[in-house]
Amino acid sequence: MASEFDLIRQYFTRPTSHTNLGVGDDAALVTVDSGHELAISVDMLVAGTHFLADTDPRQLGWKSLAVNISDMAAMGAEPKWATLAIALPAADEDWIAAFAEGFFACAERFKVDLIGGDTTRGPLCISVQIMGQLPTGQALRRDGAKAGDEIWVSGQLGDAALALNHLLSKYPLTDDELAITLPALLQPQPRVALGLALSNIAHSAIDISDGLLADLGHILNASSLGAELCLDDIPRSVTMQRHLINPSVLNMLLAGGDDYELCFTAPADAHDRILLIAQELGLALSCIGKTRAEPGLLVHDRQGNIIETGASGFDHFRQ
Ligand code: ADP
Ligand code: MG
Repeated sequence: MASEFDLIRQYFTRPTSHTNLGVGDDAALVTVDSGHELAISVDMLVAGTHFLADTDPRQLGWKSLAVNISDMAAMGAEPKWATLAIALPAADEDWIAAFAEGFFACAERFKVDLIGGDTTRGPLCISVQIMGQLPTGQALRRDGAKAGDEIWVSGQLGDAALALNHLLSKYPLTDDELAITLPALLQPQPRVALGLALSNIAHSAIDISDGLLADLGHILNASSLGAELCLDDIPRSVTMQRHLINPSVLNMLLAGGDDYELCFTAPADAHDRILLIAQELGLALSCIGKTRAEPGLLVHDRQGNIIETGASGFDHFRQ
């Protein structure tokens, strides 16, 4: 059986492109560009909690890095370096090879160097730390929203939650519908280019990992604001639209997790510039409402009818 060091050498050591010293020593060494600050974030993915234990390892490899890169996107940072701490129940080399393939596919796509980590035996658990850089003082923070800002989201919301609910046998989809929604769950696309483009425009941003209402709620809390959203303006796929008549699906659209789109606020006079960014990036950007000084998060439809949401997003300690 391969030793820990064989596994690290064979599967987790690749050439780096912007690192002074990578895998193999007691610590990695990197240089941050002058005039920039380091953005750091870590996430833990536990089998049975964050992913199903039988998830395809290639897709899991992609996702475990992608969700971290998404945090860099949400800060307006350029992702540069990652470390990977992984506990594996056994040295199943086919599994590890497939996981590494997915991980490095994502690393190459977003130009991230894997510079170190830790490999141990234990119940399957994956922790990735991501580091990126941004011009000092330009981060898209949660506490920067201003009253009267427009609220925007990228892409479409809720498909990942639809696919997950199908896989958990909680909501039936046809085979075709599953095939269309599954990539949102298994291969999220972090919106790095959008985060960078918004750096001088948006007042605040967050990536939607726990659901729109919960994550927008974090911006509103941090900025001491409330908001008004128009349900009809919240972007959704044809599949989501088809099922939206069902109240549990409305909950997936508004509060389903795992979307990894960006939600951001910007002054109303930036509206046209943001639409231009959408065009340049080939990425849908939808204005879904406005922040306001009065607290509370109100959702209404285009006719002005209030929508009872009763949803607050995913919270690991309040289920
Ligand atoms: P140490 O004993 O100093 O903690 P390790 O034996 O854990 O070092 O790791 C040896 C080298 O391999 C270190 O550079 C570490 O960062 C790297 N490494 C270990 N596991 C991984 C992994 N899963 N992915 C990337 N690098 C790893
Ligand atoms: Mg170690």
